[in-house]
Amino acid sequence: MTRRSLLGSLTAATLARRLNGLPPLTVKDARVIGTNGGGNYRWAFLKVLTSEPGLYGLGTAGNHYQPHAVIAALEKHFIPWLIGRDVDRIEDLWQSAHLRTYWRNGPINNSVLSAMDMALWDIKGKRAGMPVYELLGGKVRDAVPCYDHAGGATPEAAVESVRKSLAAGFRHVRVQFGAYGGGGFIPKGQGSRPEGGSDGPAFDEEQYVDQVPRLMERVRSEVGAAPKLLHDVHSHLSGMNAVEFCRRMQPLQMFFIEDVLPPEQLAWYRQIRQNCTTPQAVGEVFSHPFEYTPLISERLIDFARCRVSAIGGITPARKLAVLCENFGVRTAFQEGGENDPVNQLAAYHVDISSPAFGIQEENRFPPLVREMLPGCAEIRKGYLYGSGKPGLGIDIDEKLAAKHPLGAFPGGGAYTLDRTMDGAVVKP
Ligand code: MG
Repeated sequence: MTRRSLLGSLTAATLARRLNGLPPLTVKDARVIGTNGGGNYRWAFLKVLTSEPGLYGLGTAGNHYQPHAVIAALEKHFIPWLIGRDVDRIEDLWQSAHLRTYWRNGPINNSVLSAMDMALWDIKGKRAGMPVYELLGGKVRDAVPCYDHAGGATPEAAVESVRKSLAAGFRHVRVQFGAYGGGGFIPKGQGSRPEGGSDGPAFDEEQYVDQVPRLMERVRSEVGAAPKLLHDVHSHLSGMNAVEFCRRMQPLQMFFIEDVLPPEQLAWYRQIRQNCTTPQAVGEVFSHPFEYTPLISERLIDFARCRVSAIGGITPARKLAVLCENFGVRTAFQEGGENDPVNQLAAYHVDISSPAFGIQEENRFPPLVREMLPGCAEIRKGYLYGSGKPGLGIDIDEKLAAKHPLGAFPGGGAYTLDRTMDGAVVKP
């Protein structure tokens, strides 16, 4: 036997041992499946096909405001790079895909990474014959508690809405008042406006700080101390208004206040910490996994609040959960009505296997979506359950998806911004 053939046979033996007798597996092809889900969704899924016939993985590149940019990034730049690579090396592929663009992170690149990462975990789980959470260490809880969405323009309507959520089995309920920002709006046409300017609802910080704690006090006094109440400020406050808002909310024992400040003003969380004990959930619009590091390591926040697909998938979400665990911070992965069932399941697998889990935002899908994506997670009595099938546990009916293609969007699909009385934009 020559030295070369000896080395060759050693490598083959090592590989067979590493894969427990399974043959090496490579990416044969990948394709993007864009769909509106039979409604107003803007979803882009990636199906990664392997060298083993019939074995594939599914991931989401969800980005509601720029789905066509993500699809172009996948098709023109990412898929040609991925084909032929070793499917088993998820961490190495994540690292090299992350650095492949030289300029890294951001909502386009990390949505691309998410699609790949989820598909690779899906394949690994299918290969092992196990749900992904088993590969992450197994369940540390029996199901994943979710918070429901409730609210109303008046305290009476909000109370009724919270009671409905509680009756459905939710223990955690987010309460908003009126518009998504949740109160603090000067109604359309009212107040002193600039000539020729907008006359739509105008956001007013001081009104928000004045109104919302009083509205929430009414809700708390009606529903009692037991329900865990949440509220999302949607980054609408600045500086000392954010500090004062959290201070006024302290007696209401909120489960958390979400994004009281925009991502440009994170240093103010130090002032909030020094002035009150209201728990802070932060980071819905984060896409850079390292934005969290100072907030978590200095214990300036209580919940990491990003969307799994926005930060690059299960691999970085799991690392974020471990970082949270080490510093006593919890996770509260974001969903939101426009998000998709594949991302929901990716979050589920991290949630159910992480000691740092705090809460999961709910998301429910209409019958057509459940038919298009068989294996969708289910929410029953406030808890999220996965399908229990190997991998992520979800599939896609491509023929049905093709009947509901992703179209063009009026105005390019931009996020609708709130404005102040003088017509300036408010950070979402
Ligand atoms: Mg939010």
